Order: sequence, then structure tokens, then C-alpha cells
Amino acid sequence: MLQTIDAFDRIGEENAFAVLARATALAQGGKDIINLGIGQPDFQTPEHIVEAAIKALRDGHHGYTPANGLLAAREAVVRRTMTTTGVEVSPENVMIMPGGKPTLFAAILMFGARGVEILYPDPGFPIYRSMIEFTGATPVPVPMREENGFAFSAEETLGLITPNTRLLILNSPANPTGGVTPRTEIETLVRGLEAHPHVAILSDEIYDVMTYDGEAHTSLLQFPEIRERLIVLNGWSKTWAMTGWRMGWSIWPNAPESGHLYDKVRKLAVNCWSCVNAPSQFAGIAAIDGPQDEVDRMMRAFDRRRKIVVEGLNGIEGFSCVTPKGAFYAFPNISATGWPAKKLASTLLEQAGVALIAGPDFGILGEGYLRLSYANSEENILRALERISSFLSR
Ligand code: PLP
Repeated sequence: MLQTIDAFDRIGEENAFAVLARATALAQGGKDIINLGIGQPDFQTPEHIVEAAIKALRDGHHGYTPANGLLAAREAVVRRTMTTTGVEVSPENVMIMPGGKPTLFAAILMFGARGVEILYPDPGFPIYRSMIEFTGATPVPVPMREENGFAFSAEETLGLITPNTRLLILNSPANPTGGVTPRTEIETLVRGLEAHPHVAILSDEIYDVMTYDGEAHTSLLQFPEIRERLIVLNGWSKTWAMTGWRMGWSIWPNAPESGHLYDKVRKLAVNCWSCVNAPSQFAGIAAIDGPQDEVDRMMRAFDRRRKIVVEGLNGIEGFSCVTPKGAFYAFPNISATGWPAKKLASTLLEQAGVALIAGPDFGILGEGYLRLSYANSEENILRALERISSFLSR
């Protein structure tokens, strides 16, 4: 047998993709499956964005682009960041990445090693823990508690920092819970971080514009005191329904005291993916600079569905669901049903034809919960709720 380095025995997966594969196989076998599993908008990328990519190809943009991205794409990100956060960043700090995940990969790789601790949200996006373990670092879960609206608690987070902590991963609005961390809590956290200048911060803000009920997203970029140790992840996947285009961006510090993180990630890009394909970058510019009415329409649809999902889930015996304030996920507590979450999720898929993800796929503290993505039609959501309800009352 060939012997790979042991890091590859520790690398994990995103179970949402496995559930998607199983749901697709069942559907191809003739079963009627409603998919509330995968976290991607059920909308098409707006037409003017698609056209911009086609035009770029027709105009002959077929070659390599700079490893950090086209200047025009980075400048578009600068404009976007100003609109959403009011903060001026330099195109010299913007990386155009092939999706959101490569920023996680790069940042965790830069700081992770044996003997190092990395803090990450639990329940949280599964790639955080998987990549931390890949590097050999010790994953330190920061509990996202239901009674706290699945938000970060500044006090609890700060209490987990030790001299060995090198990186703190934040995510708000959050996958899988829809939790949004309030500004006051972030302010307290940033103040507390002053006492820990050895800790870098990776803020995953990929759902930044997906908030409801007037709840505003707070970007960590709004705190200049941590700018030289802050990496911000964002991208096109969710906001403009572009998951398959593989387009993300991130903002990295590059001052000497930051350890020139930007230069490092740019070199990693040269060594790994060279650059992001040109037509996608032209599409990305069109997404940022073009009309946003389709994004608004999508958000209104998500908001309607969110209310339907929460009301429906709270009507199911043994389920209770806090109202998510962001993203497009609901995270009902199912412990009163007596079912272990993974067993319930797989049984609902096989017997009721509803694909969703078990809470433990997002961390140890996800036991007793399910994640439903409401990126599906109102009609399908209602049918899925009905199926879950009648399955449980059997
Ligand atoms: N971060 C979070 C919190 C996510 O939920 C996702 C996708 O589900 C990503 C990052 C990765 O995004 P992308 O598909 O652009 O790689």
C-alpha cells in the first residue's frame, strides 16, 4: 500500500455533499426527494452576470490572469466593501480566490501546526475543523449556544484563548444555525482581543448581506485596531447564486507586523491554482457593479420561506426552532423527539424523502439538532414539513 502523510488520514468532509449524492441517487431511482440539504441558493445566477462571462470569452479572455486576481476585479471588491461596510480597503490587500473555501484552506494552513490551538465555532461549517485537524493543530470548539441565538459569546470565546492560540475563526451570519452575532458582542470581543496580540482572526463573512428583521451585519473590518491580524473571507457563491462558478474574495493584511500574509497567500495561489479563470472574474465584476434587484428578490423569497420554515418546524411535535436572523438555514432542536440526530436525518431521507443534514455533521455540539436549508420553493418546503410531521406521528 502507498503511504501518504498522516495528515490525509485526518482530513474530513462536508456531509452535505454526501447527502446530496445520496438524494440524487434516490431521485434517479425514481424516488420523490425534497432537498433541504445542500447550502446553495435555488436561483439561477442573474442573466447580466452570465452575459458578462460569455462576453469575456468572446472578447478573447482565455489566458492566465494575475495570481491575486484581475485589478478590475479587486477594485470591484474594494467598491463592494465600501458599500457594505463603509470601510476603505486597498486592492493591494484583496485576493480573488476560486471560491470561499480556498481562503479557509490558506489561512488555516498558515497558522496550523502541532502544538498550536485554533478556535472555531461549534456547531459550525465542517471545513474549519477538518482543515485544523489536517494541519495537526488542536481544534478548540467555541460553543454556539441556542439560548444565545447561536451567536458568539465574547466572554466565552476570550476565555478559551491560551498562549498557544494562533487563530480564531469567526462566522456571522452563520452556517449551519443562521445565528448572527450582535455588534455589541463583537465590540466586546475586539476589546478583549487587545490582550492577545498573538491571535490572528479569520472572519468568514460569506453570508454578510443575508440578514433579516433589520439585524445588521457587523464586519470585523470595521475595527481598525485588529486590521493587521485580520483575514476576511467573502465571495460571490451565496449572494449572487454563483456556487458553481468558484468565485470568492478575501482581504489580507500585508504590513511587516502581519507577517506579510498577503504575499504569502499570493505565493500559495501561484503554487496551487495559478489564478482564477478570467470569464468568472468578469462575471464577478458585473455582479458587483450591476443591478442588485435579483439579489433583493432572492432575499425577500428567503425571508418568506424562513417564516414558513420556522412556523412549520415549531408545529412539529418534539421540534422547537429559534428564528434564524441570517443566512438561509434553520437549526431546529429535535432532542424532545428522542431520536439521535444522524439517525433521524438518514431515516427521513430514506423513508420520508426529505434530505436534510444532521447537527452532529457540524460539530459535537450539533447533537440534538437538524439543519434545514430553505433554499427551496415554498411549495417544496411545505411538502417537506408535512412529510416530517406525518413521519414522526406514525
Ligand atoms: N463559509 C461558509 C460559512 C459556508 O457556508 C460556505 C459554503 O457553504 C463557504 C464558506 C464556502 O463557500 P464556497 O462554496 O464559495 O467555497
